[in-house]
Amino acid sequence: MAEYDHYVDGEWVAGAGEDFESENPATGETLGTFPQGTASEVESAIAAANEAAEGWRDLSYIDRAEYLWDIYHELRDRHEELGEVVTKECGKEISEGKADVTEAWHMVEWAAGNARHPHGDIVPSEIASKDAYMRRKPRGVVGCITPWNFPVAIPFWHMAVTLVEGNTVVWKPAEQTPWCGQIIAEMFDDTDIPDGVFNMVQGFGDAGAAIVEGDVDTVLFTGSAEVGHEISQQVASDPGKNTACEMGGKNAIVVTEEADLDIAVHSAVMSSFKTTGQRCVSSERLIVHTDVYEEFKSRFVDLAESVSVGDPLDEDTFMGPVVDESQIEKFHRYNDLARQEGAEVLVDRAELDDGEIPAGHAEGHWVGPFVYEIDYDTDLRCLKEEVFGPHVALVEYEGDVDRAIEIHNDVPYGLAGAVVSEDYRQINRYRDRGEVGLSYGNLPCIGAEVQLPFGGVKKSGEGAPSAREVIEAVTERTAWTLNNSSDIEMAQGLSADIKTEE
Ligand code: ADP
Repeated sequence: MAEYDHYVDGEWVAGAGEDFESENPATGETLGTFPQGTASEVESAIAAANEAAEGWRDLSYIDRAEYLWDIYHELRDRHEELGEVVTKECGKEISEGKADVTEAWHMVEWAAGNARHPHGDIVPSEIASKDAYMRRKPRGVVGCITPWNFPVAIPFWHMAVTLVEGNTVVWKPAEQTPWCGQIIAEMFDDTDIPDGVFNMVQGFGDAGAAIVEGDVDTVLFTGSAEVGHEISQQVASDPGKNTACEMGGKNAIVVTEEADLDIAVHSAVMSSFKTTGQRCVSSERLIVHTDVYEEFKSRFVDLAESVSVGDPLDEDTFMGPVVDESQIEKFHRYNDLARQEGAEVLVDRAELDDGEIPAGHAEGHWVGPFVYEIDYDTDLRCLKEEVFGPHVALVEYEGDVDRAIEIHNDVPYGLAGAVVSEDYRQINRYRDRGEVGLSYGNLPCIGAEVQLPFGGVKKSGEGAPSAREVIEAVTERTAWTLNNSSDIEMAQGLSADIKTEE
């Protein structure tokens, strides 16, 4: 079994920490051995990134982007191989494993292509002889902390724009997906990017915390709300540092009385069960109008009873395993909570029968859909807290779309959501009033594209550490004004005369 290292200052280093193993959640098989980062490797990586910052920012955008174009080609060339590694490490079915890599090269393509696009604005001045511009400067060293569920795409959401904008990077992959981290570091190594510009330290939350505490200028984080809020509070108390965090959601789909139910059911199944419900945008609430409730319920329940759960490398599988035992424990805990809170259980495949677990996969982390109906009440925790699994509540509503939107918004989170309706007024009402950062009409609430901003409102996010909008977190804006006259003339009628005593 292969043993791997950290990548610091252009070198592979073993570090001082113990080793940990990456496990295939579908089989329990060990995939590789990786070093646990400690404060010492994180410190070296941050020092290397600071050392490299000056030389890197001196390069042109176009020259920096050349390294990213190499990565783009490597991601395409190693698509099949890396897609399979994604599936083996995090259990997503194979089309999702490969899509993760595709999304990564889309992001790299966007960031590298953007190097040749105009940056900033030319702004008119009150004074004809002044030229005013909005320019951007890199912030310096950016710490990137990423989760396991998009182990290739999210790191590039963080790092691609960040590097092209002239920052250097210290990245910690998730502890569940270190092999993906290793391959990405190999790709950077292959580009001969200057030493210290890209650094990767493997490890757990303590290594992440050491990045947050270290001499970095910006922290980008995608992961749980608990950790994200802790990081943003900590960074707020450190003047000069900033952060952008993208956290979870308790996302919903609204199905109105005017819905096309084929679209509604299809969107709901995709949103609730893709990635076994472990996307930050997965939908755990389906808010359905009373006129179409029974028909929607019966069709959704039929599919939830029959979606295929199995070997994620098999192309006929819809849902793979969940990532680890702690996810199973959390899923069961919330299923029990829903029961205690009065849920009427409609589908209970939470514990799969032995016959449903694919041969040779008994050591995997298997669950199936858990679907229930419940009367809406603002105090129900099962309707407010994120489970991160195939745990789905059906909530019936009466009245107009505003009532559905009220229920939809009655959560602390605000990441993603969708409305299904053939009535454009209902759709537009939801578009304008839904409290979410990513919003869809007649579609699943999953499936973001990199050229759109990605991030949430309320408890789901602070800033956007992802996709094109990350540029705000990793650059500083300068309002730059140049005088083309030999006289000084001020705006707002301010006198430029220097008056002296006679
Ligand atoms: P998830 O529930 O998706 O695993 P986490 O928030 O636990 O989300 O993890 C996301 C990333 O944050 C991982 O890389 C993890 O190692 C890292 N992490 C966990 N705890 C901390 C912490 N206290 N400080 C910084 N990073 C952390």
